[in-house]
Amino acid sequence: MNVAERYAALRTEIDMALGACGRAAGSVTVVGVAKRQPLEAVREALDAGLEDIGENYVQEARHAFAALPRVRRHFLGHVQTNKAKPIAELFDVVQSVDRLDAGLALAKAAAGLGRTLPVLIQINISAAERFGCPPEEAVRLAERLRAEASLRVDGIMAIAPLEADRTAIADAFETAAKTFARVGGSTLSIGMSGDWREAVRAGSTMVRIGTALFGERGPTRRAPP
Ligand SMILES: *Cc1c(COP(=O)(O)O)cnc(C)c1O
Repeated sequence: MNVAERYAALRTEIDMALGACGRAAGSVTVVGVAKRQPLEAVREALDAGLEDIGENYVQEARHAFAALPRVRRHFLGHVQTNKAKPIAELFDVVQSVDRLDAGLALAKAAAGLGRTLPVLIQINISAAERFGCPPEEAVRLAERLRAEASLRVDGIMAIAPLEADRTAIADAFETAAKTFARVGGSTLSIGMSGDWREAVRAGSTMVRIGTALFGERGPTRRAPP
């Protein structure tokens, strides 16, 4: 299968999984995770109808966005406070706000640009993950950041344990769904290539798919000359 075929097949499978748990077709947004993927593959998915792309690194994203059609851009990487300005300039949504100083740095950068920046609170639901705020602190962080006029806190993002059994993954997503219910908003961003089915069952409204769409990631993406 080429990328366009994989994208079409994925959309169909997601709609079937949604139907199987009584949810409406089309109620999950697919973010194509472009990090370390060839830009031709990303372009092919965009031509096939993909409307959202995710990147983890500012420098890599800058090159990619300059070469790709304008679609919705999601920042998925760790938010370093000294990168808040380029992140707010380059991205439409920041999914990975996991602590107050990162959120406040983004708020300041967005205010400087005269824009409102949609963000998600990244929570930690996996012992193997370095980042993410503890689920029990998410409501407080969301409340604090909702006091910032230049931010809009839209919900929750989380990464499940990667090597876990299916039950542990489902349990982790359950924690994310419960936290989302308390934080409120429009977006529960859970589910990646290996676990989107469990995520859809737990109530995901947004899945972030890299390898299942574009193939295995390379060690780096070549920057254009
Ligand atoms: C890399 C990445 C993904 C995509 O992972 P795949 O397993 O390739 O689908 C999703 N979310 C985040 C935050 C990532 O860093």
